[in-house]
Amino acid sequence: MTEPAPVGLQARRSDLEARLGAVHERIAAAARAAGRGEAPELIVVTKFFPASDVRLLAGLGVRRVGENRDQEASAKAAELADLDLEWHFIGQLQTNKARHVARYAHTVQSVDRPQLVSALSRAVAAENQRRADEGLPARSPLGCLIQVDLRSPAEHAGDAGPAHRGGALPADIGTLAGLIDAADGLRLGGLMAVAPLGSDPAPAFARLMELSMVLRATHPGADVVSAGMSQDLEQAVAAGATHLRVGSDVLGPRPALR
Ligand SMILES: *Cc1c(COP(=O)(O)O)cnc(C)c1O
Repeated sequence: MTEPAPVGLQARRSDLEARLGAVHERIAAAARAAGRGEAPELIVVTKFFPASDVRLLAGLGVRRVGENRDQEASAKAAELADLDLEWHFIGQLQTNKARHVARYAHTVQSVDRPQLVSALSRAVAAENQRRADEGLPARSPLGCLIQVDLRSPAEHAGDAGPAHRGGALPADIGTLAGLIDAADGLRLGGLMAVAPLGSDPAPAFARLMELSMVLRATHPGADVVSAGMSQDLEQAVAAGATHLRVGSDVLGPRPALR
């Protein structure tokens, strides 16, 4: 990840500024169309793009960024530690990476199983011990969103085990919410989902909103609904999402390989 020459950097800045502005306009238009007073929060998904892009985005007013791989996110967060950024982890997370993620993440949006809840809670305790040893203040509680698998039961049935896209079954939300709520160092924020591939996102997001309403009946503070990406942000705004996760429409097409 070498820094581009200043001229390249200027051009990239203009490019990002234009794309970011267009995305903000789409969000505002969708919010108006839905009669929403407040537009949802934008999380810019910077996976596969260099830290230099994240720095430019911060200069353009972006505060929330999303990443889906620990190794890449750790490196960027360390390189950009001077910036006031909120790092949202949005990818499938192995329990052995929890310690890393607790160092830099504001929120893990992809909590999908009990073992991950306990691993994250232990990770926050370890991180706070590390900070105490260095005379640093404790971190804030780690935000946790429960990722929900919105596919139909028939689609679940065709699952190839752990290879599926991630997410807890709707029936397991209550149990996971209770575990997160009871765990030290974690704060239950709400729900996250990715619309199932190849079907209309609107009914999937409507289902997610229903699940959020059920969750909020017992956990009123868990009011985050993270839904909507480049392709379906309008449907997510219409459904009532509080947070959008937009990557390619801000940064451009992701490099296929690296
Ligand atoms: C990559 C990713 C996004 C952003 O997708 P785009 O189509 O690039 O906007 C959002 N959410 C998750 C979970 C992702 O992995």
